[in-house]
This record gives sequence, structure tokens and C-alpha cells, in this order.
Amino acid sequence: MPDTTPAPATAAAAPAPRAKTLPDAQTVTQVQHWTESLFSFRCTRPQSLRFRSGEFVMLGLMGDNGKPLLRAYSIASPSWDDELEFYSIKVQDGPLTSKLQHIGVGDEIILRPKPVGTLVHDALLPGKRLWLLATGTGFAPFASLTRDPETYEKYESVVVMHTCRDAADLEYGRQLIAALREDPLIGEMVEGKLQYYPTTTREETPFMGRITDNLASGKVFEDLDLAGPLTPEADRVMVCGSLGFNLDIKTLMEGWGLREGANSDPAEFVVEKAFVGE
Ligand SMILES: Cc1cc2nc3c(=O)[nH]c(=O)nc-3n(C[C@H](O)[C@H](O)[C@H](O)COP(=O)(O)OP(=O)(O)OC[C@H]3O[C@@H](n4cnc5c(N)ncnc54)[C@H](O)[C@@H]3O)c2cc1C
Repeated sequence: MPDTTPAPATAAAAPAPRAKTLPDAQTVTQVQHWTESLFSFRCTRPQSLRFRSGEFVMLGLMGDNGKPLLRAYSIASPSWDDELEFYSIKVQDGPLTSKLQHIGVGDEIILRPKPVGTLVHDALLPGKRLWLLATGTGFAPFASLTRDPETYEKYESVVVMHTCRDAADLEYGRQLIAALREDPLIGEMVEGKLQYYPTTTREETPFMGRITDNLASGKVFEDLDLAGPLTPEADRVMVCGSLGFNLDIKTLMEGWGLREGANSDPAEFVVEKAFVGE
């Protein structure tokens, strides 16, 4: 009689997919360190996650107390991307980022799939020229929006102003914008429409100064050969930086007659904090 006893399951079976050990777990697929205080990473995207470019989610790691330690993070990838990308600070004594900065490919993070936020096209009335103004990691939502074709369908021109202390802090954004021009999907849409104005406030570089100063003095209009100042008829603005930066820009925008919008009441500019605290 032939032996019909099934072989032990372990003998020839393909390795079982690794069981997810965390609630809402996603797997890290790429990590890139930019400076001692900045890194970006990519992870798998939950199949059910739909978001509007510019929104943020809560993500983190399991804390030592067995409870998830979560923080708000802007999704830096566009809504069409199969994976999710994030751009993160490393706060050396920060509860989350002191650990998150050590993640590697294959590790799991926790990601709550409930995107929200005001840095979205829906919160702005139609306009001609879109300004994306960021300091530091406030660039993250604009890493999403500048890679979304909808941005170039909605506006005749897009100006990205990003300010950091040193040139190395601008590198993630600089490389991303440069790659956009080569991108098979939106390279052509971006051509002639997207202007990028990175500045530093500490290290000597060809373009320096705070975003508020460069807007208020008219320097950015001169340097980019643009009509200035901003007007409520033509210009739409998204702002993401520290509390102080956001307040200064808000004052400047309101002085030019632009009104702050929200998802429920679209207007001419929208603001979101890049982080809580100064
Ligand atoms: C709506 C929203 C979106 C956010 N998106 C991002 C993002 O895309 N990338 C990101 O790195 N952070 C983002 N943050 C900040 C993030 O939620 C955490 O604060 C950050 O990850 C640090 O966490 P932590 O637990 O290590 O330290 P925390 O205890 O959260 O922060 C400690 C201190 O570090 C400083 N700090 C925190 N985050 C930053 C930052 N991003 N830049 C400069 N200083 C900071 C502040 O002074 C803060 O008081 C966002 C915050 C909000 C409210």
C-alpha cells in the first residue's frame, strides 16, 4: 500500500508570511538618513487607506508600557503612490523619534489609517498661483502635493518656498523637486509651472533669509521674476511650519487681503502646524 500519510506541513511549504505583531502594523520598506536630525522612510500602505495629498495620520511604535506611542505625521507621498512615505525629525530625547530614528527595513510601525488635515486642495477656492510655504519638516505635506498631478491641473503656476537653517536640511526637498522634473508621470506637467525657492537662515548660500522677509521685502518676486505681492484674486497659499512662522505668515497674508480657509469653508490660504511646541 502506498503511504498516504501527508508530509509534515513544514517539509515543503513556502515560508508563512510574517505574522503582524502590532495593531495597525505596516512594514518599513526603505529608510534614508539625510542629516543627524532628519530622515525619511517608506512603508507599506494599508489597502483600505484613502487620503487626500497633504493630509496627516497618527503613527508610531509600541511604547515600553505596552501602549502605542503615536504622533501626528504628514504623509509625504502623493495619494496615487502604492506605498507611504514620511519625512521625520530626530529629537534626541523625544519619546517617539529617539526610537523611530533607528527603524530599519522589515521593521513594523503602527499607523492609524484615519487621515485628516487642512493642507488640501478642497480647503482653497480656485486660484491661479499656488504658494507652498514651509520651514523644516513642514515640507512633508508639500512633498505629497508637489507629486500630485491635481496640483498642476488646478493651478497655472506653483511656487515652493522652503527655509531651513543649513543647506543640508534642504536636501530631501531639493532632490525631490529635481526628480519631479524627470518623472514620467508629471515631469511634463511640472515643466514651466513649478518654481522652487529654497533658502537658509544660518549657512551662507546663494539664497538666504526667512520666508516672511523674502515675501514682505519683495525679494522672492524679484528673484523669480514674478508679479507681487500676492492678491486674493489670483493667489492661494498653504503654510506649514512652527507656530511663530505660521502666525507671521498669517499676518502677512491677511495684510494682503487673503482669508484663512478650512475644509468646511474654503478661502485663500490654509495653515497647519509642522509640530507642537517651539
Ligand atoms: C499636524 C502635525 C503634523 C506633523 N507632521 C510631522 C512630520 O511630517 N514630520 C515630523 O518629523 N514631525 C511631524 N509632526 C511632529 C510630530 O508629531 C512629533 O512631534 C515628532 O515626531 C517628535 O516626536 P517625539 O515624541 O520624538 O517628540 P515630541 O515630544 O513630540 O516633541 C519634542 C519637542 O521637539 C520639537 N519638535 C517636535 N517635532 C518637531 C519637528 N517636526 N521639527 C522641529 N522640532 C520638532 C518640539 O519643540 C517639541 O516640543 C507633526 C505634528 C503635527 C501637529
